[in-house]
Amino acid sequence: MRVAIIGAGAAGLATAKHVASANMDLDVFEMREELGGTWVYTDDVGKDRYGYPVYSAMYKGLRTNLPKEVMGFPDFPIPDQERSYLTQAEILDFLKLYAEKFDLIKYIKFNTMVMDISPADNKWKITTIHKPSKKVTTNVYDSVIICNGHYNDPIIPTLKGQENFTGIIAHSHDYREPEKFRNKSVLVIGAGPSGLDLTLHISNVAEHVTLSHHVPEPIKTQYPPNVDMKPDVQRILEFDKVEFVDGSCCRYDAILFCTGYRYSFPFLNDSCEITIDDNHIQPLYKHMIHIDRPTMCFIGVPFNVCTFQMFDLQARYFCKYLTGAMDLPSKEEMRMHTEKDMENRKAKGYTKRQMHMMGPDQQSYYNDLAEDADTAPIPPVLVKLRDLSVQRLYDDLINFREDQYRIVDENSFVKVSN
Ligand code: FAD
Repeated sequence: MRVAIIGAGAAGLATAKHVASANMDLDVFEMREELGGTWVYTDDVGKDRYGYPVYSAMYKGLRTNLPKEVMGFPDFPIPDQERSYLTQAEILDFLKLYAEKFDLIKYIKFNTMVMDISPADNKWKITTIHKPSKKVTTNVYDSVIICNGHYNDPIIPTLKGQENFTGIIAHSHDYREPEKFRNKSVLVIGAGPSGLDLTLHISNVAEHVTLSHHVPEPIKTQYPPNVDMKPDVQRILEFDKVEFVDGSCCRYDAILFCTGYRYSFPFLNDSCEITIDDNHIQPLYKHMIHIDRPTMCFIGVPFNVCTFQMFDLQARYFCKYLTGAMDLPSKEEMRMHTEKDMENRKAKGYTKRQMHMMGPDQQSYYNDLAEDADTAPIPPVLVKLRDLSVQRLYDDLINFREDQYRIVDENSFVKVSN
């Protein structure tokens, strides 16, 4: 079995570890010069020095929004230390340590961008470009595992009248640090973790920040006095004047969209027959395996999850299949299973965009994968701690990262200080 892994972020590294442990041949293609994916910070935006798009949504001063107890791998927890919420640099160091510990660096082809993946008989033809030399290479693999992350194709809505706005318009993907917003009036749109966090970062230097959102629950966090909240934008009235749906108006120097990302696999040839409709990827069994060509797998598609833990579990599951230790159901059964899952999601009121959202469903998703693959599940304590942490983020963004936790057993944790 010869396996190609696309991406050397947390998902690609965990996958490489399990593929290598199962004694399969592997190559990991990584378009950047470093491993770590999201956790590699760069000042650059736009194009890199080779003329290719910069892969990064990381900003200066980021601390994780999940505690380290949740962010480790099952076979390699984050080493014990006082704080639970680590910096970007600490997570990157941890991923480098992981790669060294499991001797993964030798498999990674750095600066090598996957340009095309096409089915070839029952195998996969993968074409890459080595960015510095521009050398194009095509190789054939038995299996391809896609770990290219999903924070690289920003969703930038068009506001009514946006053409009238003369100030700065940017997406959080290209936000690096707050300086360009110094003494400015800034409108942040979207109240996901990035929108909440960047509102706070920018408020340290800006004259005034408005967070515009439609989160149904009240955001309890007490922001500094130069921050206010507004509902959705109705339209841009003139060069700096924004009207909100409640009829109120305000003037801004800058608009920062924190409006999320699209799943994007620009290297998948149409003949792979993967479609994405409003962020619903099909046809995927258990949110990961291509139903019609099950030697193609996607690691890390579900969101609102215990990220690194889930990557590891999905990788273990797929390796069980690749090595022949576990069978998959027939294509027809996989299709029926997936349709039922989607119907259940629709019945719960999930939109198309939420077809890969786990949140309240994550423990049963993990248990199901673990049971099928006869492998260790993700302990409930991690899901509980993750859920508490997300709640704390919305309730007390300013202070929640001072909380420290200790895992007691697989069901419980204690808060040791704050
Ligand atoms: P990535 O880390 O994005 O790695 C994908 C890799 O694939 C990259 O190295 C990229 O260069 C490579 N790649 C892509 N396309 C190609 C190609 N064509 N050819 C070759 N290589 C390619 N999660 C948490 O658990 N806690 C947090 O606190 C947290 N904070 C976050 C903050 C920000 C700003 C962002 C954007 C995300 C955050 N996340 C957080 C989510 C984070 O993305 C995941 O934790 C995790 O790092 C994703 O890993 P990944 O390997 O799936 O993707």
